[in-house]
Amino acid sequence: MSDPLVDCEGLVYIYKARTLEVVALQGLDLHVEPGEMVAIAGRSGSGKTTLMNILAGVDVPTAGRAVVAGHDLTRMSERERDLYRHQTVGYLLQRSQANLLPELSALENVELATLTGPGARDGRAAKLMDRLGLGPRMHVRPAGLTGGDKIRLALAVALANGPRLLLADEPTAELDTATAHSVLGDLAELLEELDTTAIFVTHDPELERFARRVIQIRDGKTSTETRWTGSREALVADELVIMDRAGRIQLPKAYVEKLGLKERVRLRIENDHIAILPPESGDTDHA
Ligand code: ADP
Ligand code: MG
Repeated sequence: MSDPLVDCEGLVYIYKARTLEVVALQGLDLHVEPGEMVAIAGRSGSGKTTLMNILAGVDVPTAGRAVVAGHDLTRMSERERDLYRHQTVGYLLQRSQANLLPELSALENVELATLTGPGARDGRAAKLMDRLGLGPRMHVRPAGLTGGDKIRLALAVALANGPRLLLADEPTAELDTATAHSVLGDLAELLEELDTTAIFVTHDPELERFARRVIQIRDGKTSTETRWTGSREALVADELVIMDRAGRIQLPKAYVEKLGLKERVRLRIENDHIAILPPESGDTDHA
């Protein structure tokens, strides 16, 4: 197997205000292979945006390992960080408006984001916009675009450099379901064509399945993972719980509550599985 494009282990991020510390990520593990499209899901406040800011090279991890495309995000100089932000990643911020310059046309916004700038004649900007269905609206300013087209434009801007990794923080949060589906569907096709790896954050379970892998973050840690297999028309979900290198897993809350598990459980190893039981279930009646 190739090296993962994203390799995070035990990632910790602490926001430090004058008197208060918020531990936003507490030992998060994440591995993404080149070419994958991965969705990050989780409640508000679970640490999704914090993770994206770290992967985008905006914030520096407090502790842990974070390597993207061979760049160690924990020990980059300011200059390397700058290059990384411009060349390795494309980042669509949670508030999509923040990604666009209102006084420039759609095309100029994308051209500005290509490394070579507006003078570039390679036509990458126009090609991206065509592929995202913005062809007829290249010369319109952002304010003249529909909500869906604004997101398409912000995606074209984020992809303008030809990044190895696209990061999109709730790109479809402001869209109705049908528009969100159409935007993500087109994005998925384009990413496959460009062979670009992507991580996007979503709140909406309906939209997770545009990714083949959906990772749930709970309290600043990855807790469960769903893998979708099969063809796009007939996807089958496989729910997995994430185990870290030390063998720690987090049990789904619903399971814990159903059996009333608290603090201590009994583990029993069987031929091909491990059973987790309430402590009072002794082994006495074991045949
Ligand atoms: P999500 O994107 O999943 O909603 P965030 O990554 O934005 O979550 O936030 C994770 C935690 O960090 C939350 O408890 C949030 O209140 C806190 N947090 C986010 N940004 C800051 C900040 N600038 N200063 C202090 N705490 C923050
Ligand atoms: Mg967020």
